[in-house]
Amino acid sequence: MNKAIDRRILLAVAGAVALIVLAVALPLAGPSEESNSDRLVVAVTILPQAGFVEAIGGDKVDVVVMVPPGYSAHFYEDRPDLMVKLSRASMYAMVGSGVEFELAGMGKLRTMNKAMLPVDCSEGVQLLDMDEHNHDDDEHHDDDDHHHHTGPDPHVWLSVRNAMIMVRNICAGLVQVDPANKAYYEANCAAYLQQLQELDDEISVALAGVQNRRFIVFHPAWGYFAHDYDLIQIAVEQGGKEPDPQYQMRLIDEAREHDIRVVFVSPQFAGKSAEVIARAIDGEVVVINPLAKDFLDNMRTVASAMKQAMQ
Ligand SMILES: [Zn+2]
Repeated sequence: MNKAIDRRILLAVAGAVALIVLAVALPLAGPSEESNSDRLVVAVTILPQAGFVEAIGGDKVDVVVMVPPGYSAHFYEDRPDLMVKLSRASMYAMVGSGVEFELAGMGKLRTMNKAMLPVDCSEGVQLLDMDEHNHDDDEHHDDDDHHHHTGPDPHVWLSVRNAMIMVRNICAGLVQVDPANKAYYEANCAAYLQQLQELDDEISVALAGVQNRRFIVFHPAWGYFAHDYDLIQIAVEQGGKEPDPQYQMRLIDEAREHDIRVVFVSPQFAGKSAEVIARAIDGEVVVINPLAKDFLDNMRTVASAMKQAMQ
């Protein structure tokens, strides 16, 4: 009994101390995250979009990323901490291509903040169907925990050319929400578009001479990239899942036939079959990231990894 009372007193004291510490610390913290009220809060679904928004918005924006690092945009999850930040957002930049997070969550997110301007980053992007190469469609799993990649390929941002469209859409949104800074946003946008154009030219040249144009990747996020540079993406996943043994054997045969020595995986998706296939073809597993924030740097890294793998 006494122990319980002691604990209660202790908790009360700890609580009081915490309050005093907070009261003292808050004014000293200066312009904290919460008090940057002069900055425009912009919500985005995935990290690469945060890079885009920051490139255009510079020091005039704070970005809230709804799918945090290490998570996949193929699921929707409630995040109470992000909901608070979202309530202060003036604009929401959606990927807009049918990413599961948005299909499942966008309605709810918009009711949290009805004043926020929704911007569809994919407006004007030519959506591609999921590359059916090596996909078995006869088998349908009905659980909802993962995407099946039927219909349009949602990974639109993994194309430098699409990124240029997305960046223009983001810029137009920022100008609409904050017209006073139109010139600032448009100048940043033009500079970033220039860098994207240079990157696209650079990758086109780098991959032009590659003889073997096929690459194997666990999660098929690189269809738009493949489309831009005339490459063939071969997915290990089968309907969003580890492949069955027969399909795995077919992949191994195909890899041998085309002398493929690398199986790409992403940090978010790296099934054990990738290792199995890599071992069978005497090759290696290489990680490429579809969700890195620094788009220019990441696409350069990916292009160079692909060039190396396909030579
Ligand atoms: Zn994906």
